[in-house]
Amino acid sequence: MQIERDKVVTINYRVSDGDGTFSESSEGGDPVVYLHGHGSIVPGLEKALLGKQAGDELSVEIAPEDGYGRHDPGAVQRVPIKHLIRPGKLTVGKTVGVNTDSGHRGAIVLKVGRFNVDLDFNHPLAGKHLHFDVTVLDVRDASPEELAHGHAHGPGGHH
Ligand code: ZN
Repeated sequence: MQIERDKVVTINYRVSDGDGTFSESSEGGDPVVYLHGHGSIVPGLEKALLGKQAGDELSVEIAPEDGYGRHDPGAVQRVPIKHLIRPGKLTVGKTVGVNTDSGHRGAIVLKVGRFNVDLDFNHPLAGKHLHFDVTVLDVRDASPEELAHGHAHGPGGHH
């Protein structure tokens, strides 16, 4: 069965950025289970997986536009420390939770002042060129319930 829209796909992946400062892997944990064609994974990876089947292995280079987007300088903001959720000891590079008008959001600390912090709300991988190594483990039809929810269910999925 080939990967196309509305198939539930199980993959193992390893991802790293161009300069090697970041890497992450599903190996040793649960594989990723997602519903294809619904934006659950980055666009470039979804594109590369189209037409693949169980047992296929692929290496994909993904530009920021097809990954987590460009780094937006406007997403760097000065925020009062009292708006942080359980800030603890604030250090540069730490990920913190923030109460914003649009709910709780994660951000990375760029600079710590006495009453304010400069926070980067960009995705940590925004602006990065990513290298993915992916193995397709399984491809199956989605259930009507999964299609209604717009995501995969079961082991490694939602619920
Ligand atoms: Zn659901």
